[in-house]
Amino acid sequence: MNENKTVYSALKPTGDLQLGNYIGALNNMVKLQEENDCIYTVADMHSITVDCVPQDLRRRTYDFMALFLAIGLDPDKSILFVQSHVPQHAELAWVLNCYTQFGEARRMTQFKDKSAKNPENVNVGLFAYPTLMAADILLYQADRVPIGKDQKQHLELARTIAERFNNRYSPTFVVPEGIFNTHGAKIQNLLDPSSKMGKTDDNQQGVVFLLDDEDTIMRKFKRAVTDCGSEIVARADKPGISNLLTIYSVMSGHTVKEAEKHFQGASYASFKEEVGQAVVAKLAPIQAVYKQLIADKSTLEKVMKEGAQKASYLANKTLSKVYRKVGFVQPK
Ligand code: AMP
Repeated sequence: MNENKTVYSALKPTGDLQLGNYIGALNNMVKLQEENDCIYTVADMHSITVDCVPQDLRRRTYDFMALFLAIGLDPDKSILFVQSHVPQHAELAWVLNCYTQFGEARRMTQFKDKSAKNPENVNVGLFAYPTLMAADILLYQADRVPIGKDQKQHLELARTIAERFNNRYSPTFVVPEGIFNTHGAKIQNLLDPSSKMGKTDDNQQGVVFLLDDEDTIMRKFKRAVTDCGSEIVARADKPGISNLLTIYSVMSGHTVKEAEKHFQGASYASFKEEVGQAVVAKLAPIQAVYKQLIADKSTLEKVMKEGAQKASYLANKTLSKVYRKVGFVQPK
């Protein structure tokens, strides 16, 4: 019997992938595939809940898949696919909408934040985002879902919906557990170490994108904000230096303690230069593979197609159970 856990994770192509995504999510996704049955999605359907330029979405969907492969996600070990290629996501989401209370969805802080930020486009899809996310996870009977803190409330709702459905009918869905980034590697914006580095930050000069070229990366690190004093140590009163040490540690494979020792007595300028070099060295082979894949999209399209077929097979098993339980007549 297969004892592996099923892990589901999705990244939405609303902005280009950046170093925080790599350190906080992608790096871990590669490790998880060694001991679990992993299902990884480019969540394009979630992207259109906010304003989204079609050609950017199209380009990023390919970019994300190419980067998935380039960082080491392996289509022979994990299922890699594009969400809109598996229509069961939308189909299950509709059913789950009918098992989610309006009041529950209205309490979601991400909906409140996003609608406050963009009052011109408070669309129903944005409101129903958490039920689509619940469908993504529940379709595959995922045991574990690696998520950032920002998705904790949505995962709680997915669990509530799963339990409600299971109690009302009979056990149908696995109730998923969140996996939180335990080593706490949260990467901050290089120009503002008090705020998280994000794909859509206004302060793009403080965000290192995975596809930035060497000069751009080095320039961003040279301009990184540091702190008072001259010591290179990870400490609460040194958010800029601590952030750079975390980045160096993950990218070079050394612990933060080892990094502190290595940089003892170094100037801030040479420290920042070396952190930049460690990032360039780690990203260079990833970018090389990315360039090959993006130059000839047929490999990517094959991976997308085969991934969608595997995902669809699993998704159908859950969806047909759900349809039967709610009373839909199966087509003969
Ligand atoms: P987002 O790009 O905000 O949709 O995030 C996608 C995934 O990347 C989530 O699992 C986040 O926790 C992770 N992530 C994004 N930015 C960072 C960051 N600055 N530090 C650590 N993890 C991050």
